Amino acid sequence: MQAQHSTPETIRFQQTDETDRPVGRSIKRGLINRCPACGEGRLFRAFLKSVDACAACGERMDHHRADDFPPYIVVTIMGHLVLGGFMMTEMLLTLSNWGHLAIWVPITVIGSLALMQPVKGAVIGLQWALRMHGFGGHGDAPEDELPTRGPSA
Ligand SMILES: [Zn+2]
Repeated sequence: MQAQHSTPETIRFQQTDETDRPVGRSIKRGLINRCPACGEGRLFRAFLKSVDACAACGERMDHHRADDFPPYIVVTIMGHLVLGGFMMTEMLLTLSNWGHLAIWVPITVIGSLALMQPVKGAVIGLQWALRMHGFGGHGDAPEDELPTRGPSA
């Protein structure tokens, strides 16, 4: 590691390229709609549209591949909350099916919408921290990971 990143107060030993992107910090920044790299710029320009690049530090965000993972996580969270809430309500109260629908359908819809952007931001933060999908400066194909060889190799 070059010394230009270290001030006298922040000397770290065994600093490598792998340790300068803490996973937890990156996920937290993504959760609150902040760039995982600098924590300053916004991560989303619309509800679920991430910015192409961070306005503060210029880190490219357009090659993330959150894809279906955020909805999968949201379904898992909301499924447990709603099913647990439904079962507890059923034990305490006697409600008709319509009563349950009136409670749990709005909670499911609102909760899912509320969770979707933070969860997608967290997934993008995770992918950035792990240098997936171009965040590490190389492509996704296995040959992109291999060291380049001379023509005679
Ligand atoms: Zn940034």
